Amino acid sequence: MSSVKTTADEFRFRIEKGDAELVGAGLWLDPHHPRELAFISHAHADHFAPHGKTICSTATRLLIESRFQNRGNEFLSLDFGERLTQEGYEIELLPAGHIPGSAMLFLTRLEDGATLLHTGDFKTRPAFGAESNIARRADWLIMETTFGVPKFCLPPSDEVLEEMIKFAQEAIEEEEIPIFMAYSLGKAQEILMSLHAKSPGLKFQVHSSVAKMNEVVASLGYALPPCDLFAPKERSPKGHVLVMPPSAGRSRVVRQMKKTVRLAMVSGWGIDSGAKYRYQCDEVFPLSDHAGYDDLHAFVDEVNPSRVYTIHGFCNEFARDLRQRGIEAWPLAGETQLEMELLSGSTGLDDSPSTVESNRPVSEFSDFTSICETISATTGKTKKRELLADYLRSLEEEPLVLAASYLSGKPFPAGTNIRSFSVGWALIRQALLDLTGLTRAQYRQISSSQADAA
Ligand SMILES: [Zn+2]
Repeated sequence: MSSVKTTADEFRFRIEKGDAELVGAGLWLDPHHPRELAFISHAHADHFAPHGKTICSTATRLLIESRFQNRGNEFLSLDFGERLTQEGYEIELLPAGHIPGSAMLFLTRLEDGATLLHTGDFKTRPAFGAESNIARRADWLIMETTFGVPKFCLPPSDEVLEEMIKFAQEAIEEEEIPIFMAYSLGKAQEILMSLHAKSPGLKFQVHSSVAKMNEVVASLGYALPPCDLFAPKERSPKGHVLVMPPSAGRSRVVRQMKKTVRLAMVSGWGIDSGAKYRYQCDEVFPLSDHAGYDDLHAFVDEVNPSRVYTIHGFCNEFARDLRQRGIEAWPLAGETQLEMELLSGSTGLDDSPSTVESNRPVSEFSDFTSICETISATTGKTKKRELLADYLRSLEEEPLVLAASYLSGKPFPAGTNIRSFSVGWALIRQALLDLTGLTRAQYRQISSSQADAA
């Protein structure tokens, strides 16, 4: 590999509400807010918003259509290797290896041949359930750095999978039910295919959201093992390995089976000591669909760019580590980055792991607020209704009750005169301190920098 780096003319970006736009092309990169023209790297829910035109891989379009129904969005979908010319740029998609259909955007500016690679979410270890990542030399690189600190060098996936099989077999031998909690698109299929390949005798039951994704993923050509639907009233889960999203793993149905289940989370965040206490489960297996710290460095070496911009997760730390290696690297700063630094612990204050696969700290309440934002930014009653219906359909019983009362603007019990929670600033501040582990001095500093009344 040549160590000579060509100097490309500047690419310019505009950051708005945490979204990045490539100026000149009018192209937004994985934006969270509705935009005229957007590149969507993959079909995870935190990457989807209703845009004017969406550039994505053909598989991602099929997944988006089946997950969110077609709401009249216009897609410019490309197969890997296919090329498209748009506003002075040639666009090509390369496999990202994150989940089925996930793509990296490779842009060539036609006037001077300068190249830019935007990874979206990616991983480089070969795995079932995603096209293998293909790196390509580019002048500029925009990369996600979810695991951009050294403690997130992830163990070989073969080792993790062996441990998962041991966990499942021991539970079944002792007449208990092993449950793997994993995101329903991508990770769930990787688990099913990998465990089946290594231990063909295992039998599976899956949550309905996983079953729905299995169907679409199978239609893309992936060979999934036979799976029964998890429906404990109709068929016993005994003797089966269960795969379900984390919200279902904590649902009342599963809690009622508490004494007979062994609950495991499957997430790269599991490498963090204490993760199993945070996830409140018996075991956490660090199998991730994001690149580990050492994989991120190896990827930069392969792309060999003259400049790197980091997004998501530990973007400040990873950019600093690259600069120490003599590579020009900066966080592609924006609001999201600031939130990430505060929430993900990249300030060194707290190391809270995120949810299963996401590179953003997502919670049930943040899902709620982002659907509210999306609905308010959407015009047309039919579209609003469809978005709301999809969201409500995805909820288990308990969060559904809460979401319905918040959405209706009536959070207080009917027939009472209660009209306020009587929650003052002092209580909110104490809750924030407990949650983040910040000292009062650190809190005051952040609070005054944000002109915060609290
Ligand atoms: Zn993702």
